[in-house]
Amino acid sequence: LVVLKGVNKHFGALHVLQDVDLSIAAGEVVVVIGPSGSGKSTLCRTINRLETVDSGTITVDGRPLPAEGRELARLRAEVGMVFQSFNLFAHKTVLENVVLGQVKVRRVARDQAEAKARALLDRVGVAAQADKYPAQLSGGQQQRVAIARALAMDPKVMLFDEPTSALDPEMINEVLEVMRQLAADGMTMVVVTHEMGFARSAANRVIFMADGRIVEQNTPEAFFTAPRSDRAKDFLSKIL
Ligand code: ATP
Ligand code: MG
Repeated sequence: LVVLKGVNKHFGALHVLQDVDLSIAAGEVVVVIGPSGSGKSTLCRTINRLETVDSGTITVDGRPLPAEGRELARLRAEVGMVFQSFNLFAHKTVLENVVLGQVKVRRVARDQAEAKARALLDRVGVAAQADKYPAQLSGGQQQRVAIARALAMDPKVMLFDEPTSALDPEMINEVLEVMRQLAADGMTMVVVTHEMGFARSAANRVIFMADGRIVEQNTPEAFFTAPRSDRAKDFLSKIL
């Protein structure tokens, strides 16, 4: 569903993605881990073209990423993204946050968009907050709204970049639970996270990045019990 071939990306002299090859099948849940600065966020951001690449190709559902215009807006709908910092529209209600993209990008009729938004808010457990503003919600609730907003666009794949890193500990699980459910429902997901419990229980594959390269990838069982590279062993010894 998502295929990267020979992808390279520089920020000035910094080579942040080095010959990245990655193929993600429909329904697969891929967890990306690695030290700070290894290129995890950049990898996610290239898949929905928040970052351009210097060389290599990326395709989603067989199509190369469009450069601009309505095609790009459609790509961003097909590739949903959830950030560490929620990124909700602060001056719109929760309901409106989930309605807006459907109406503007998907050209869905408003009443239909509202019905879908309410169903999705219910699915992520925040239906009662529909008429509030984001600032009136807890971090965990805001992140679940962000997930509902992305889902409203009927994405083919969902990217999560450290979705629980900004949350208080007691709210982490409510967000991970929504993500687990999504994974169980068959969503294709790329998840950058430090939550190794989630990686073990929900991932089909763990990708370990260092210095802009995919150093190692394996099933979670194999990766966590027997990492092959020294970089991965070193990383795991620090976080587990
Ligand atoms: P973290 O775990 O800290 O989130 P990461 O693995 O997500 O790290 P990236 O955010 O992808 O790492 O960054 C990879 C490298 O590229 C880092 O050295 C970072 O400082 C650099 N970088 C990222 N974005 C930019 C940018 N817009 N301009 C210049 N350098 C950047
Ligand atoms: Mg990052």
